[in-house]
Amino acid sequence: MVTFDAKDCSVDNSTSSHYNSIRIKTFDTRLHQGALIVTITVKGPIVEMDGDEMTRIIWKMIKDKLLAPHLNMNLKYYDLGIRHRDETNDAVTIDAAKAVIEHGVGVKCATITPNAGRVKEYSLKQAWKSPNATIRSILDGTVFRKPIIAKNIPPAVRSWQKPISIGRHAYGDIYKSVEYKVPTAGKAELVFTPTAGTEKVSLVVHEFKGPGVVMGMHNTEKSIQSFARACIKYSLNEKCDLWFGAKDTISKTYHGFFKEVFDREAAARKADFARAGVTYRYMLIDDAVAQIMKAEGGMLWACMNYDGDVMSDLVASGFGSLGLMTSVLVSPEGKYVFEAAHGTVMRHYYEHLKGNPTSTNSVASIFAWTGAIARRGELDNTPDVVAFAKSLEAAVISVIEGGVMTKDLAAIAEPKPANYVTTGEFIDSVSKKL
Ligand code: NAP
Ligand code: MG
Repeated sequence: MVTFDAKDCSVDNSTSSHYNSIRIKTFDTRLHQGALIVTITVKGPIVEMDGDEMTRIIWKMIKDKLLAPHLNMNLKYYDLGIRHRDETNDAVTIDAAKAVIEHGVGVKCATITPNAGRVKEYSLKQAWKSPNATIRSILDGTVFRKPIIAKNIPPAVRSWQKPISIGRHAYGDIYKSVEYKVPTAGKAELVFTPTAGTEKVSLVVHEFKGPGVVMGMHNTEKSIQSFARACIKYSLNEKCDLWFGAKDTISKTYHGFFKEVFDREAAARKADFARAGVTYRYMLIDDAVAQIMKAEGGMLWACMNYDGDVMSDLVASGFGSLGLMTSVLVSPEGKYVFEAAHGTVMRHYYEHLKGNPTSTNSVASIFAWTGAIARRGELDNTPDVVAFAKSLEAAVISVIEGGVMTKDLAAIAEPKPANYVTTGEFIDSVSKKL
């Protein structure tokens, strides 16, 4: 039952002759065919970035069936579909990233990163850069991946009861290294020449007696600091413990510097950690790996670049399906872009184009929207908006736990459902539950 205080209400019959609409603070309610429909107003803007192929189809279904009937949103729409990126010479991607900086919250549909095959397929002017890479470099962000948990989709690791989020440093180390294949005996040296013209520093890497390999890699204090700050922000916002693992016992200077920067940034936010009831802990990377396998989850695991590359795949596959993995880009200034971790699901799209039914998992895309809506609600201080996002997430989980799921999940669920549903049927079930 919903009760209203008369002083909060005004009756508005202007919307439609069939509806009686009552305006209450951030709610609009209307009676429609005997049912009370509540429309919630999301105060601040959300930057919406549309995308490609199957995820573009899902995107529209989510908006039409799960969001539009309940929310009054102020969306700043940018079409990052491959054709529109090509028409605008990719300017639309840069404009969208700038809009996120202005408004603070974005939600992005998966997009094609064109290769030679795609250039031909869509007759593109050129193989445009990955939109995610463009957005990430403009926002200077860190990417966090988090799995969605349902009771009947058991993780491969029995102890994992809560999601494990991975924060991967996405700059430097072996991903921006210089390598050399040593052909013969000789001396490899590391030389640093200061711009200020002061004395050069030179260290012997190895005196080769015969052929071998050598590599030089780097990172910067600015980048490590941004990474640490983004992880701390995420941990405080999500109220989850922060783990950071590296190998400072062996790499006392390189890994030791990462530890030093992390420790320093965490110490500066000590009071905020205490207030949020979460902790920061540094551990050796091998200790972190061993403890993760026995932990129940619920933490953010901050990883150096290579560790994050490897461990995010381990965690994603350990939790089940790509369709259950969300991803969020967080800038050091606290600007957020939410998305699904998977791509445009091209194979399903081609089936869809042939007129065949598809069973594509929309969960990660729905959670991209709920993440953005909840974040907007927190920024605007509108708890009803946050509550809507949580209700939608709960409806999704409840539908899956009730045995209604797409093909990818049906294959790993316990117990196995008798059948799986199509892309549209799943979204309809969530809509009904909501
Ligand atoms: P993908 O879209 O992630 O799909 C790979 C396979 O994983 C699918 O064929 C499907 O397996 C399964 N899968 C992924 N998401 C699923 C979902 N929601 N529901 C059910 N199954 C799902 O990768 P892709 O096909 O290699 O890449 C397609 C395009 O996406 C590429 O152009 C790439 O550039 C782009 N991409 C974009 C992003 C992004 O925007 N963030 C990220 C990655 C890739 P089955 O075929 O076995 O059913
Ligand atoms: Mg990887």
